[in-house]
Parts: sequence; structure tokens; C-alpha cells
Amino acid sequence: MPKGQVQKAIHNFSQFQKSATQGDVYQNVVNHPWAQPLVKALNLPVPVKLRRQQQASEEFLRGKALFGAAPNGTKTESNVSNAILTVLSKSSAKLFFSKGNKQQQDLMSASKQFPLRVLSETTHKHSALVYDATNIETPEQLSSLYNFYHNAISRIAEHSRVIVVGLTPESCKSPAQASVMRSLEGFIRSCAKEIGGKAATANLLLLEPDAEALLEAPLRYLLSARGAFVTGQTLHITKVSPTKEAINWRQPLLDKTALITGASRGIGKAIAETLARDGAKVILLDIEPCKDDLESLARRLGGHAVIADVSDKKALNKLIKDVQKGSETIDILVNNAGITRDKTLARMDDKRWNSVIDINLAAIQRITEALVDNKVLNVGGRVVCISSINGIAGCFGQTNYSTSKAGVIGYVEAMDKPLARRRITINAIAPGFIETQMTQAIPFLSREIGRRISSLSQGGQPEDVAEAVAMFANPAASGLRANTLRVCGQNLVGA
Ligand code: NAD
Repeated sequence: MPKGQVQKAIHNFSQFQKSATQGDVYQNVVNHPWAQPLVKALNLPVPVKLRRQQQASEEFLRGKALFGAAPNGTKTESNVSNAILTVLSKSSAKLFFSKGNKQQQDLMSASKQFPLRVLSETTHKHSALVYDATNIETPEQLSSLYNFYHNAISRIAEHSRVIVVGLTPESCKSPAQASVMRSLEGFIRSCAKEIGGKAATANLLLLEPDAEALLEAPLRYLLSARGAFVTGQTLHITKVSPTKEAINWRQPLLDKTALITGASRGIGKAIAETLARDGAKVILLDIEPCKDDLESLARRLGGHAVIADVSDKKALNKLIKDVQKGSETIDILVNNAGITRDKTLARMDDKRWNSVIDINLAAIQRITEALVDNKVLNVGGRVVCISSINGIAGCFGQTNYSTSKAGVIGYVEAMDKPLARRRITINAIAPGFIETQMTQAIPFLSREIGRRISSLSQGGQPEDVAEAVAMFANPAASGLRANTLRVCGQNLVGA
């Protein structure tokens, strides 16, 4: 064989090898036109490529949105329905009312507040199906939820959104209503599994009474392409005073400063880019070996790079002094830095155990408390901690990692009240399988399983986690407290 051809073959093979270890090869191949006959012949599942946010200015919802509400038995309007419709009417989606909701429809059209159309045709595809279930009080009344979705679910478009709004079970008047509100979780989780093949998502928002003014940030997020990898999840909205700040929805983080740990690559890098896109000034922290990448990212985002190890207590003191010297404060803290040091428990050495617990858990506590105690984190600030679904479900060979990540969820729940005094919110995100350097290190077969066992049959991208961080960081998200949001495409085994 001539030398040129040999070199070309070696080059092609190394390209193939590279692509076989980077990114989702299966998804790319089965979506490729030349593979279609084979895909059809073998009846292979084809994960639909998720539609993610392309530009900051992109509309949060387009197409045709169908709204319904459980009858409220009174002749008065529902505040929750009004709050949902107010958000929907800010999108460019055309709003439709389901035929079955005669009473609500009359009330809504009487108020003339919303340009609602009654759904008469059955041919169009819905981009969103939103249901206000807050008035359901008994198991029998769940039939209204069934009727709404039963009639419409088969007409959802690819990438569409199913959203149910209910009440937190703890706030319900009767055990029957509390059980009904809890049952909504089962509904959306199963629904998410049924529609995942269309890259569509289903999620639940549970409100405390009179918290509807705090719906907007999570509702916009879940309806939009920003929440593409979040499905089968529930967010709780606590009743607090809503922010008095006018929200600029294009750049909600203008004038805010965010500190992101582990920011040189992977999820941390995407968080830095996303918060900067939303207007925040970013302070990026990472360890010495990542200096070049960190500094070039900081330059690109107009931010500031800090070389420090989160496990080094002296470095933390220096960081605080530096921030104070520059008479700066921080509005958003993202505890993202994390490591894995996998071994089964019997083979795990002290070093692996201690380093993972320290970096993934103890350092988060040290940093958060040092910033709060030194008043470096502003009143009304936001703390977002990155946990993992392995902290919920557990994972073979990861007792150290799962312990640390479950501890992060416990920390967020325990810190909610102490931080609420300064109107600081703290929430966790539990990513599932996200395409980063961390998951590239997983053996090929486990990696493939990690991708395919989600309802969306694929892994997430770092920006999926970053968009969830941006949602929690939004000044309008003050009702989101001590939540753990799984950004996992409903990938969870073993829990
Ligand atoms: P990654 O390994 O690509 O990035 C982690 C970053 O943290 C790196 O930049 C690293 O240098 C930094 N870091 C590590 N130790 C540090 C220390 N002592 N001090 C300062 N910085 C340090 O990982 P990733 O996939 O981007 O993960 C980011 C976070 O998300 C981690 O907390 C991880 O546990 C979590 N997570 C990731 C996945 C996933 O699928 N990738 C899933 C669940 C949770």
C-alpha cells in the first residue's frame, strides 16, 4: 500500500477512535442520514437530539400552548391560573383553552385579560400542556387531570413541555388532598417516561399557598429549551416576599457577581459562561494545573481568575481578604468543584476516602460559611451546590463519592433556615450523566448504559446543569429554597 494511503488510514482510524471515546457516538451515528436504512431494518431506538437554548434572547415558549385547570367549585377566578396565564401570555406561544374547562374558560374570557382561544381543531401539535391542579381535593377529582392530558397527550410536538402545578402536600387542608398532591409526582414521572422519546419533558411545580407570585422563574425555565434535560422532576416553591427588583429577563444577573469553583472546564466552565451570558461578573476558581485554561476563560468572559485549592484553608482566607480588599462582595456562590476517586469499599484507601469527602463536602461547608460569616456573600444572595444522582441512588465503587454528594443535599436542607435570615437561598443540583472529562473516564459499556437509561435516551451537556444554576441564581427565584433538582433526563437507578 502506498505510504500516503497508509497515513490516511491511520489518520481515519485515530479519528474514529477519538470519536468513539468522545461525545455520544451512538446518537450521532443513528441520526446520520446514511445510517437510516440500517436503523430502520434493525428497529434501533433513535434518541432525538435535544433542542437547547441557542441565544440569550430566544423566546421561552413558541408554538401552541394548551392550558387547563381543575374546576374550583366557586365562581371566582383562580389566582394560580391567573399567575400561570400571565407567564404564558408573555411568551410568543398562542394560548388555547381545553374544551372541557367550561367554567374556567368562562371566567377567564370574562376577565378579558388573556387572549385565549378555545381549542376546536384537533390537528395541530401542542408545544406545551400546562395544567393547574391546585383545586383538586379528592382522588375522584383527579379525573379532571386525566381528561385534560388523555385528550391532548398524543398531540404533543417534539421538544414539547408538560407542566402540572399543584400544592405542597404539607400545606393541604385534608389528608385526602395531601395524598392527591403527592400523587401528581407519580403522574408526571410516568408521563415523562412516555413522552421522552419525543425529547419532550414533564415536570411538576408544587406551591405553598399564596406563593403564585413566585412561579415565574421556574415556570419559564421548565417551559423553555433551557430545561431540555430536566424531566420527571418536582420543584417546591416556598412563600416568601417576592423581590422588588424589576427583572430583566434577557440579562437577569446584571450587576451581580458570581464565584464559581472548579470553573476551568466541564460543568464549571459552562456555569461561568452561562452566568456571564446572563450579565454576571464572574470570579473563576480552580487549581494550579488548570491555570492557563482558567485565565483564558476569565479573559474571554471579562472575569477574574483565582488559583486556589478548595481543600486549602489558607487559600480560602486569602480569597476572602482579596475580595474584601477590592471592596467587592459576592451575590452568587456556585460550589461546583468535585472529584471522583473510585474503588469498592473493601479496596478503598484512606487517601481516596478523605480527599473526596473533603473536596466534595467539607470544602463546600467551609467556603459557604466563611463567605456568609464574613458578609462577603450579600443579603439576598444565592448558593447553588452541585451534588449528583449518585448521592441519591448510590453507585458501585463510589461509596466515598455518593456519601459526599448525599451530604451536599443534607447540607442544603440544613442551611436553608439559617441563610433565610439574610434572604439567601441555597439549593442543590444533582446532575445525572453529563458529557464531561469526568464521565469520559468511565469504561465504554458503563458510559453507554449511563446515557441510554434516561427517559431521553442520552446524556446531558454541561450547559444543562449551567441553565439550572442560572435559574436558581435569578433574583426572581427567591421562592426556590432547599430544592434538589435532578438534571438527569430522568436517569436514576437504585433509589
Ligand atoms: P471535571 O472533572 O471535568 O471538572 C471538575 C473541576 O473541578 C475541574 O476544573 C477541577 O480542576 C476542579 N477541581 C477539582 N478539585 C479541586 C480543588 N481541590 N480545588 C479547586 N478546584 C478543583 O468534572 P465535571 O464533570 O465538570 O463535574 C463538576 C461537578 O459536577 C462536580 O462536583 C461533579 O461531582 C459533579 N457531577 C458531574 C457529573 C457528570 O456526569 N459529569 C454528574 C454528577 C455530578
